[in-house]
Amino acid sequence: MNTKEIIELENKFGAKNYKPLDVVLEKGEGIWVWDVEGNKYMDCLAAYSAVNQGHCHPKIVNRLKEQAEKLCITSRAFRNDQLSLFYKDICKLTNSHMVLPMNSGAEAVETVIKAVRKWGYRTKNIPDDKAEIIVCENNFHGRTMTIIGFSTEEQYKEDFGPFTPGFKAIPFGDAKALESAITKNTVAFLVEPIQGEAGVIIPPDGYLKDIRNICTKNSVALIFDEIQTGLGRTGKFLAEEHENVESDVTLIGKALSGGCYPVSAVLSNEEVLGVFLPGEHGSTFGGNPLACAVAREALKVLIDEGMIENAADLGNYFLEKLKEIPSPYIKEIRGKGLLIGVELKQEAGGARPFCERLMKKGLLCKETHDNVIRFAPPLIITKQEIDWALVRIREVLVP
Ligand SMILES: *Cc1c(COP(=O)(O)O)cnc(C)c1O
Repeated sequence: MNTKEIIELENKFGAKNYKPLDVVLEKGEGIWVWDVEGNKYMDCLAAYSAVNQGHCHPKIVNRLKEQAEKLCITSRAFRNDQLSLFYKDICKLTNSHMVLPMNSGAEAVETVIKAVRKWGYRTKNIPDDKAEIIVCENNFHGRTMTIIGFSTEEQYKEDFGPFTPGFKAIPFGDAKALESAITKNTVAFLVEPIQGEAGVIIPPDGYLKDIRNICTKNSVALIFDEIQTGLGRTGKFLAEEHENVESDVTLIGKALSGGCYPVSAVLSNEEVLGVFLPGEHGSTFGGNPLACAVAREALKVLIDEGMIENAADLGNYFLEKLKEIPSPYIKEIRGKGLLIGVELKQEAGGARPFCERLMKKGLLCKETHDNVIRFAPPLIITKQEIDWALVRIREVLVP
């Protein structure tokens, strides 16, 4: 089947909950992907940062095959030999005391909501059903009912109510707003260190430190959603390391498996995850040996192959060079490591047509919201490859 036939088939049977670019991919290797017609593209989205280690990393794929032939799933009704090894590695890397493995990012978010609510009821004398969690405007934490209920994006919510109560939104990047929003019923503050889906919004310097102090002072659990910013994306293993801040709970997912398998995790101090008792939470696939083996290997290659340092160095380079492009369309360029957003002016007519033009030149990226192009390639990209991308980006952004 050719591109057109495949798209027709997909449109005939599939729910239309995405609006993908019309490229049908069939193969990937490192930062490159190929479509069914044999055209080659540079992947500058990296599956929303799920594939930081590059497509089909041979070591991760080998580990996946090896474990798949041995044991895939036991369920948590029994123990498996890969789970504790994964726990040990991830706790050591992140200074965490406890882990709860899940599959998708949204499930990790749902998990932490349960955990901090229970923690709050047990430690803060909050009346039944009054626990409150503070979130930020323009947040993105996933697509389940509870999570969209505290989104401030109308499109995510319209016609999907009623929603779970107990959430309150404040402006992102404003520590004073957090201080004023906290009440005696506040159990947690859930925040992305950099807002990815909102368009790569970077908070002011010192924000993470300030919110850490405010949460500590008020006995409010600080939860960092690092599902997109973690695993080296911003040039540190976790983005919170840029300000040397430790959360009470950190959520990771996406690149935790190098994109080979859905794996997410809630990482926490003993207090918060310590609240769960047998039977209070679970997931059939969470913590299965295949997921654990793949995640361990994905973490190992990220570190052994210097991908985090590469994201820091080449992220700076990419950002500096993008800023040199004399484009009348660009409003602002923001980024940390290899998480970069180019915000276009309103009159540029939206980011989508620019992404379509880049696709025709062999570079895949995606608009986020209407006016931001996100550049977030796998962290193994080289300087020469960034130069290759810059030529195409310049052609599209300079009329
Ligand atoms: C992608 C993402 C999620 C949701 O992860 P899924 O695996 O799609 O459920 C949550 N939070 C952030 C910050 C994300 O970028």
